[in-house]
Amino acid sequence: MFCESDLLPISALQHLAFCERQWALIHLEGIWTENRLTAEGRSMHERADEADTEVRGDIRIARCLKLRSLRFGLTGKADIVEFYREREERVGKMCKLDGVDGFWRPVPVEYKHGSPKPEPYDEIQLCAQALCLEEMLNVKIEEGAIFYGRPRRREAVQFDDGLRTKTDELVSRLHKVYHEGKTPPAQYEKHCESCSLIDQCMPRITEGKKSVEKYLDQALINSEKE
Ligand code: SF4
Repeated sequence: MFCESDLLPISALQHLAFCERQWALIHLEGIWTENRLTAEGRSMHERADEADTEVRGDIRIARCLKLRSLRFGLTGKADIVEFYREREERVGKMCKLDGVDGFWRPVPVEYKHGSPKPEPYDEIQLCAQALCLEEMLNVKIEEGAIFYGRPRRREAVQFDDGLRTKTDELVSRLHKVYHEGKTPPAQYEKHCESCSLIDQCMPRITEGKKSVEKYLDQALINSEKE
């Protein structure tokens, strides 16, 4: 179990999954810059941040719900958690809500400005939210959803064993790299072109620098052997 001072932001998981250097530049070195993609994402989240709780029949929609897990050492905020009223209690899948009758099934929903990605970065972030909610509400959550902006559509996400394992592993990696506190060298890859930090990171230049350093290190080793 983690303590409050050890909690790390859920949002860091996406940065880490995308690129460990990007994560380190943002979360260790405090560098952040906005590009078109991040600006669109921020604006979409601001819209999701506007309300508090809304009731639509048998659905209660909680916005900006604070999340925390001492088991996984995470903290953050859910864009939306939908609570569906169920007629009958399904043990371990429903929760009670303060001041409201009935049994409720929680479904976390995340807003993303772009389109679904080939890698499961968004699903992992949503699963991390579900893990926090499970601990907070003492339930098991089977499904969440991601609302994509381009094209506008909602996709269901199953929190199956595979996704839970990937999320668990990435959370462990997050705590490990945070405690190591090192920024890894750049490595230019295709995804660098959509990285908001490409100008600060300069992957083509710093990658070359790494090669020079490696060359000099090897030359030093060789000269010592002679
Ligand atoms: S430019 Fe590439 S290497 Fe640098 S932080 Fe972004 S994704 Fe990582």
